Amino acid sequence: MITLHTLGTGSGKPTPERGVSCTALFRHGEVILFDCGEGTQVQLTRSTLRPGPIKLVCITHFHGDHINGLPGLLGTLQLNQRTEPLTVIGPRGLVTYIRALQKVGALGVGYRLDLIEVEEPGVVYAEPGFTITADRLKHRIVCWGYRLSEPDRPGRFDVARAQALSIPSGPLYGRLQRGEAVQLPDGREVRPEEVLGPSRRGLSVAYCLDTQPCEGTLRLAEGVDLLVHEGTYGPEERKLAHARGHSTMLDAAEMARDAGARELVITHVSPKIMRPEVYLKEVQGTFAPSAIAKDFDSFELKYVE
Ligand SMILES: [Zn+2]
Ligand SMILES: [Zn+2]
Repeated sequence: MITLHTLGTGSGKPTPERGVSCTALFRHGEVILFDCGEGTQVQLTRSTLRPGPIKLVCITHFHGDHINGLPGLLGTLQLNQRTEPLTVIGPRGLVTYIRALQKVGALGVGYRLDLIEVEEPGVVYAEPGFTITADRLKHRIVCWGYRLSEPDRPGRFDVARAQALSIPSGPLYGRLQRGEAVQLPDGREVRPEEVLGPSRRGLSVAYCLDTQPCEGTLRLAEGVDLLVHEGTYGPEERKLAHARGHSTMLDAAEMARDAGARELVITHVSPKIMRPEVYLKEVQGTFAPSAIAKDFDSFELKYVE
């Protein structure tokens, strides 16, 4: 299971109601942060998450409401005596930004900091459990959207079928479960598909802000389990939103619908919108499984067996 936590759902500046951009994915005991606006660590302390398990931070762009919380978070991890490495992914300039902080003495970290600057669309990070893909969004400055994708997992091991084939229990079961063909002591070969059920789909989440509707979002959100998309403005302000490199909540719903996403979470709401819920009906008229996030909402993504 993956749980998505909205730690900051406002745009521009923090208010008593909303922190600025930060969304956390909790996955198998680890935390992946998307953006790190000012106050992210305060929001973390008010959430059920802790900073220790953060292993990866993906920064979309250098506007302050997406990155001003990063130096503080990195410093706190040091105060917490972190020893595990941390990876930060972001636009070109990330290394200069971090080195400048270090040079003036504003940031001392003893743990290993792996910095990845996104140069072009594609896979920017990969480990056996998931990959992170980046694609170009359409904003006023260079801005990258991200998608976390898990690989499909092998199907369930069918013990009854294995016994019917007289496969001795033990290591051969494990190798078949991992997708390997095995040779039995009597010389017969057994292929994994003979004892495994249908493969189980891995989960995927796309994170697209700040942006106006664009092709990059459609690519990242294609068939995704959950799309997190900005909806800075109400539906009536589409022209203004696009002129400023942003989207309306209705744009977000159209992107989710057109990309074939399964669910939509709208975030990055303008502090001028006091009651975003008044737009929900219209948004759901375009894409029914939509939510307009508040800080500290959580959304569970479950594996379809
Ligand atoms: Zn923003
Ligand atoms: Zn921005």
